[in-house]
Amino acid sequence: MTEPSIFTRILQGDIPGEIVAETERVFAIKDIAPQAPVHLLVIPKTPYRDVAELAAGDPSLLAEVVQVAKDLAAEHADGDYRLLFNSGAGAGQTVFHVHAHVLAGGLGEKSLV
Ligand code: 5GP
Repeated sequence: MTEPSIFTRILQGDIPGEIVAETERVFAIKDIAPQAPVHLLVIPKTPYRDVAELAAGDPSLLAEVVQVAKDLAAEHADGDYRLLFNSGAGAGQTVFHVHAHVLAGGLGEKSLV
């Protein structure tokens, strides 16, 4: 059996983490090293490796991740948000349990791309 990811351990209460939202299939935490005024992670409880595996394996779960992200951006900021998935180590993914970065709260008008 593979080791539970750091996010699963936070969900289970084994290590500390501030859970800001939870549904039957998804939870969200504050990122430990925020890169924006609001930086949350929305995480499916089923540990798909990355967003492509999630999309292929359970499209409705990916849709739920997006919906939770949208709701959190409205709750924690003005409703505008940037949604980011790093996929693969070469793209900066460090935790191989899919998670959406929700960045919000005064990002400015200029986007990353
Ligand atoms: P990735 O680099 O895989 O796209 O994103 C992983 C994110 O998880 C990083 O932004 C990192 O700051 C965050 N992170 C890593 N370990 C912990 C932790 O123990 N608690 C919380 N809340 N966030 C974490």
